[in-house]
Amino acid sequence: MLKLTIVVRSIVVVAAMLAPAGVWAQQPLKIFDAHLHYNQEPNPFYPLDKVLEVFRRNGVAGIVANSRPNKGTHQLVDAKAPGLWVVPFIRPYRTRDDVQNWSTDPAIYELIQNEYKRGYYRGVGEFHIYGRGAEAPLVKQAVDFAVERNLYILAHCDEPALLILFGHNPKAKIIWAHTGFSTPPERVRELLETYPALWGELSYRSGVTDSSGNLAAEWRALFTRYSDRFVLGSDTWINERWFGYDTIMKNYRAWLAQLPEDQAKRIAHGNAERLFGGKVE
Ligand SMILES: [Zn+2]
Repeated sequence: MLKLTIVVRSIVVVAAMLAPAGVWAQQPLKIFDAHLHYNQEPNPFYPLDKVLEVFRRNGVAGIVANSRPNKGTHQLVDAKAPGLWVVPFIRPYRTRDDVQNWSTDPAIYELIQNEYKRGYYRGVGEFHIYGRGAEAPLVKQAVDFAVERNLYILAHCDEPALLILFGHNPKAKIIWAHTGFSTPPERVRELLETYPALWGELSYRSGVTDSSGNLAAEWRALFTRYSDRFVLGSDTWINERWFGYDTIMKNYRAWLAQLPEDQAKRIAHGNAERLFGGKVE
C-alpha cells in the first residue's frame, strides 16, 4: 500500500512537472497597448476601421492613443469603439521635424496647452529627449505642466535625460518608453527602486528573451520583483510596425505565458488599469 501511494504521488508530481508553464494562458489575455501611434502625414497607413480591427483580432482592449499630429488621437477617442478603452496622450509634435526640435520651439508649449483644453488627456508624450537636451527650459515647463495636471509623461530618453526629467520635478510620473532600450537590467532595477513613479514600457527593449523566445533569467527576476512597474507597447511609429502588429503581440504573449499568471496579467493590462483608473473588457 505504501509503495502504491508513493507511485501515485510520483505520477502526480511528474504530471505537474510536465504541464506547460503557461496553462493559465489558454484564456486569451487582454492586452493594453501603452505605446501606440496613429500617425497621419497626411494619411494614416490604415484607415480607422482597419486599425480597430487590428486591435480586435489581437485581443488589444486598451490603448494609449498618441499621434503626430494629434488628429489621429482625436479620431481614436471619437470612434468610441466598443471593447476598446482609449487613454489619450498629448503628442508635442506636428511634423517629423518636431521630433528633433520640439524642446526649443515655444510654439510647442502652446500646442500642449491648446490640446489639453480638449479635456480628455491623461498624459504628455511620447517625446524624445537625450542627455543635457533635457535641461532646456521648455522641457521643464512640459514636465511641470504634466505634474500640475496629474498627467503621465511618456518619455523616449536615455538615462541622463531621465534623471534630469525627475530633477525638474520630483513629482513627475514617467513611463519610460523602451525602458532604456539596452540599459542593464540591474540598473533598471535600481531606477525603479529609486523612483517609485517610474514605469517601464517594453517595446524594442532588448534582452527580455533569448533568440529562441525564452525569458531571460535576469528579466524573469526583474518581473518577479517589479511586475507592477511594466507595460507593453507596439510603438507603431512607422508603417512597418502596423504591418508587424500581429507578430509584436504574439511575441509578447509568448513570453508572458512563461510568467506566473498574476505577473503576466499585471504587465499585459493590470498596471495600465491601475495607472489610468479604468478596465479592459
Ligand atoms: Zn513611439
